Amino acid sequence: MPDVSHTFDQLETLVQKHYTNPDLDLLRRAFAVAQEAHKDEVRLTGEPFISHPIAVAYTLAEMGLHINVVAAGLLHDVIEDSAVELDVLKEEFGDDIASLVDSVTKLKRTVKYRGTERYAENLRKMFLAMASDVRVVFMKFADRLHNLQTLYGQPKHKQERIARESLEIYAPIAGRLGMSEIKGELEDYSFAYLKPKDYERMKSIMDIKVREKGAYVSRVIGETEHMLAEAGIKNLQVHGRVKRLFSLYKKMKKHEGDLSKIYDLIAVRVIVGSVEDCYTALGVLHQKWRPAPGRIKDYIAQPKPNGYQSLHTTVFTSEGEIVEFQIRTQEMHDLAEYGVAAHWRYKEGSSQAAHNMRWMEELAQIQRELAGKKNFLEQLEFMKIDVFKDRIFIFTPQGDVIDLPEGATPVDFAYAIHSEVGNKCIAVRINDVMRNLDTVLASGDIVEIVTDKNRKGPNPDWLKFAHTRHARKKIRDGTRNTLKGWFAGVLRGRDQGKKTQTR
Ligand code: MN
Repeated sequence: MPDVSHTFDQLETLVQKHYTNPDLDLLRRAFAVAQEAHKDEVRLTGEPFISHPIAVAYTLAEMGLHINVVAAGLLHDVIEDSAVELDVLKEEFGDDIASLVDSVTKLKRTVKYRGTERYAENLRKMFLAMASDVRVVFMKFADRLHNLQTLYGQPKHKQERIARESLEIYAPIAGRLGMSEIKGELEDYSFAYLKPKDYERMKSIMDIKVREKGAYVSRVIGETEHMLAEAGIKNLQVHGRVKRLFSLYKKMKKHEGDLSKIYDLIAVRVIVGSVEDCYTALGVLHQKWRPAPGRIKDYIAQPKPNGYQSLHTTVFTSEGEIVEFQIRTQEMHDLAEYGVAAHWRYKEGSSQAAHNMRWMEELAQIQRELAGKKNFLEQLEFMKIDVFKDRIFIFTPQGDVIDLPEGATPVDFAYAIHSEVGNKCIAVRINDVMRNLDTVLASGDIVEIVTDKNRKGPNPDWLKFAHTRHARKKIRDGTRNTLKGWFAGVLRGRDQGKKTQTR
């Protein structure tokens, strides 16, 4: 396993290399706050806690996300684990960073594991809640990835659960977002814990193949570099890439363990400056080495559904070996590794709203794909775009998520939980503060309804601010026999009229 304990210096170096005019002062200030907040904490692996937020920030910087997201990565655990207040973050780092940290913290507080099905439900809703700011998803992935990388510190039963969640829920979603680098990492780390024997078997197959073919592949790489440079291709990078272990495992299963049918154990990746150069490179390779029939794939002209683009070909080299080539531009490469995250880097200047639109489209697509699957993920039945566009997601203190329309109040929330909770409700705590029952709720609020079992029924005045059809109906039903009942009756009549019209 690679060394994951990046120091802050390494993060700075990466950011300097990767970003134009990065705000290093911002990063240093974020680091100072995180370091102070976590100074007495140690992870189960024995490392100082600060190694975790640094690793998370490092991944976010590798993905090329905005520097605010990287800073938020450094700070992502300070509210949870220490006494740093949200207001302090706002003052020090501004609303954007504070809200990123806040969103990630809320997710942790509210998503709790209570059996697989409940978890799936929670997670489904968590992703919907995150639809308001997709950057939080990337932070969540980066956080999960480092927790997987350091999973050996956890007790065995926790290892198994975290690995399973990652493999069955996080990895497919990362894949769908085109983040194949993150997906591959999540899969391989999980694989090692879930099927240790198969993992070791795949690892030894790869080790043997790399040893067998290593020298030979380097010769092919050298020859390729030479030929393409001769053909006038500039900005050229050629390197070998080894197939990931979980991906090899799946392919082995598909081919019933026949290794000879797997041609891309080691592939050669060619990265060039332009689309034209991709096709030129393909021509050059085919002139030199005979392509295997049926293995030329033009994913540039016809991208994969997740947006993946490259030219693939498998050739017989002079030494009679079979080698797969993948040819792409730098932009295609970044997109293949980091998906939508990279997409936004290349579409700089596009607004947060545009980003979120894209995210909505992705979610809708995930929903369509999952609809066809006959496994555990089947239960992750994503809601339709237009349904959650105007929705907010409210958390119970137990970690359940209730979705409500925008503008909903605690009374709507109470009735969404249970009629009796609505009928007996007398007060509300929102994020631990007592508030009025007509307070408009915001996505991510943690809401606790205070009930009085002696209360007779709802207050007809609630109709002035109750928002959902369900709550309004229950309030009217509960007050039908009161003095104001006739008024509620008029309202109900009007509502029913509307209903028939829209049908
Ligand atoms: Mn964390």
